[in-house]
Amino acid sequence: MHYNEEAVAPFPIDDVLARMQRSGVRGIVANSRPNDGTVALAAAPQAAAVGVKVVPFVRLYRNRADYTGWFADETVYTMVQQQLAAGTKTGPFKGIGEFHLYDSANADGPVAKKLMLLAQEKGLAVLAHVDDDAIDRLLRHAPRAQLIWAHTGIGGAPVARVRALLARYPSLMGELSYRPGLTDANGHLSAEWKALITAYPDRFMIGSDTWVNARWSDYEALMGAARLWLGDLPAPIAQRVAWSNAAQMFGVDLPR
Ligand SMILES: [Zn+2]
Repeated sequence: MHYNEEAVAPFPIDDVLARMQRSGVRGIVANSRPNDGTVALAAAPQAAAVGVKVVPFVRLYRNRADYTGWFADETVYTMVQQQLAAGTKTGPFKGIGEFHLYDSANADGPVAKKLMLLAQEKGLAVLAHVDDDAIDRLLRHAPRAQLIWAHTGIGGAPVARVRALLARYPSLMGELSYRPGLTDANGHLSAEWKALITAYPDRFMIGSDTWVNARWSDYEALMGAARLWLGDLPAPIAQRVAWSNAAQMFGVDLPR
């Protein structure tokens, strides 16, 4: 989830945590533009009180302009290193992202390459909103980096292509918000996605993608929609996608 600066006033920390609690959400990957929102969430004593584990990621964006130039901007790399060194009140950052690449060739930008190598070296996860070609490019720089593919291809990469990438890169995980073709018109899991998730039950996870405030307004409905299609999977597989794949990745225990 994102806790960007425009969300902070209309959706204060107590409110977003209450939405998570009402939705049965017990853990989140938090990132924000700028990183202040994530730092505040990670430090919030209320999170532990309501049983929400916060896994903080460093975002690359100080502002909207950074979305389109970060991959070649050394000041972004410096900012990420500063954030990683500072950590949060409750522990170190566990990853980098979400970042965007609107042109996959920019996955070969100097800062993109350096960040992938940094993530691989430090054991940080990377959350990337990119197309399938950029997945290949990013993992060519750092084949052992743990890469979470945001939306598993928001442009709708064919399922066969997603399957081939999962087979080629054992460290690749797929996050499933906004994934075209995941569900049918009634919100149930499509046959081809049911087959893919069943073939790779330890490689997928659920995100809320609160990228605009409307997603916070709809938070409980979004989580309800995820539960509807998760219910189309065998319970042990649904449990992995909903919780344990991400929890294992970040060493998170189920909170009490
Ligand atoms: Zn995204």
